[in-house]
Amino acid sequence: MLFLGSMFILYFEILVLAFLFGAGIGSFINAVAYRVNIKKDYIKSRSSCPKCGHVLGFVDLIPIFSFLFLRGRCRYCKERISYQYIVVELISAIVFFAYFYFVGVAQIFNFSTVNFIHLLYSVVFIGIFLYIALYDYLYYEISDRLIIISSIITLIYFILLLALRVIPFGLILSHLFIGILAFLFFLGVIIITKGKGMGGGDMKLAFLIGFIFGYPASIFVLFIAFLVGAVVGLLLVSLKIKSMKSMIPFGPFLSCGVILYIIFYQYLQHLVYTIFFI
Ligand SMILES: [Zn+2]
Repeated sequence: MLFLGSMFILYFEILVLAFLFGAGIGSFINAVAYRVNIKKDYIKSRSSCPKCGHVLGFVDLIPIFSFLFLRGRCRYCKERISYQYIVVELISAIVFFAYFYFVGVAQIFNFSTVNFIHLLYSVVFIGIFLYIALYDYLYYEISDRLIIISSIITLIYFILLLALRVIPFGLILSHLFIGILAFLFFLGVIIITKGKGMGGGDMKLAFLIGFIFGYPASIFVLFIAFLVGAVVGLLLVSLKIKSMKSMIPFGPFLSCGVILYIIFYQYLQHLVYTIFFI
């Protein structure tokens, strides 16, 4: 009984930590996106207020809480801080909380090398896809370098799983093949729509998604992305926030599909196999 009680407390603590960790990652993503865009060195330079340039102190950098505590204003010049910061921190916190709630905690309790590698890979890629979504949303751009680095990390992940005899060599090739197919599918969409629907960045992101998830999961990820994209697009047009002609970046929807799959894959996997193999 005592043992069950302490397990529950540990479980609860992990989820609280996951939420705070996610908020911290959200804050980091905000800072990196801002600095990459203005080509500032994002490792060495310290955070400062975009309006008055005052270097931010430790208290100003606490995610979510500092925004609430300062009521959304800079401590030094009292300028309004963009809601983007707290929204991204909250989304990131909720995403990491959900990941640990549905997947991560079970993997920590059933500790094994494979589970640990999977957990680490998932956490890194949730962060990368949140960043891709934010950057594409803000600046309509997906970094080639990030796609290349992500593909290399994924290849290393597959090689580790191969070495641990979790996956066969053929699986890496089939994932590569699906990545190329996803790339060509998006190229086709770009040619047909004359570049009005998708951009080159989406095409490269589609390759990465195909390479990570393979068949049939990546088709499901792309399907979620198109579905969420269509619903949100129609909503924005009907609420007159956007017109039929305005550009909506697709990267956030692709990232949304990826993150939903990473969190709910245990439930979706079953559904995907039922749809595609029966
Ligand atoms: Zn300021």
